[in-house]
Amino acid sequence: MKPPLLILFDVDGTLIRTDGAGVRALNQGFLDIMGWENALGNFSPAGMTDMAIAHRAARWFRGSELTPEEMQQVFERYLEILPRELAQSSGYRVLPGIQRFLEKYSLRGDILIGLGTGNLEKGAAIKLEHGGISDFFRFGGYGSDALDRTEVLAMGIKRGAALSGLDILLERVVVIGDTPLDVEAGKQLGARTVAVATGPYRVSELKSFQPDLVLAHFDEHEKIDSCLEGWV
Ligand SMILES: [Mg+2]
Repeated sequence: MKPPLLILFDVDGTLIRTDGAGVRALNQGFLDIMGWENALGNFSPAGMTDMAIAHRAARWFRGSELTPEEMQQVFERYLEILPRELAQSSGYRVLPGIQRFLEKYSLRGDILIGLGTGNLEKGAAIKLEHGGISDFFRFGGYGSDALDRTEVLAMGIKRGAALSGLDILLERVVVIGDTPLDVEAGKQLGARTVAVATGPYRVSELKSFQPDLVLAHFDEHEKIDSCLEGWV
């Protein structure tokens, strides 16, 4: 039997949009713990891991990174605030075509679907539970695993292999995300990459990073289905 096709999904801008709830919760965490106002206001956090975001904010505010203790406190506060921010976020949505994709492909024995996200593991779970799609994802690599997105993906592959008891070949891994950072991290591992323009980047911008497939959104059923059938 051929090894399965392992698909790793990014969360923000790929599966869901929180309409800023995630950023507001992390900003509030920084304000409550560090006293910094609008900590994420000076850069675009899209595609970065949560730990990388936290260090970047700290470097901007005081010229040095967070200590592990500070990081833990900021993240604990963030995770406390996140459910409330999501509940208040009227613009939260599961992105078009995602539900169909998950229902269709999660039942297949030759495909494993997990997460490859910069979100903390708990943060990803909270965000996906809010949209009722967390049960589709039984493993993943998370922003709580590593600072570097490539290492996050590698952890997702390792967990997928452990959970399924199957060998995973890197050329049979598909990384799906909405930013150039997702594409670059996937390519670095030797995985196939799919970029989707439901985050801050347009199709033309994503194309310049040469992913294997670029989608405007996940409602492009035929493109997705024919591509996956060719890869599986
Ligand atoms: Mg994203």
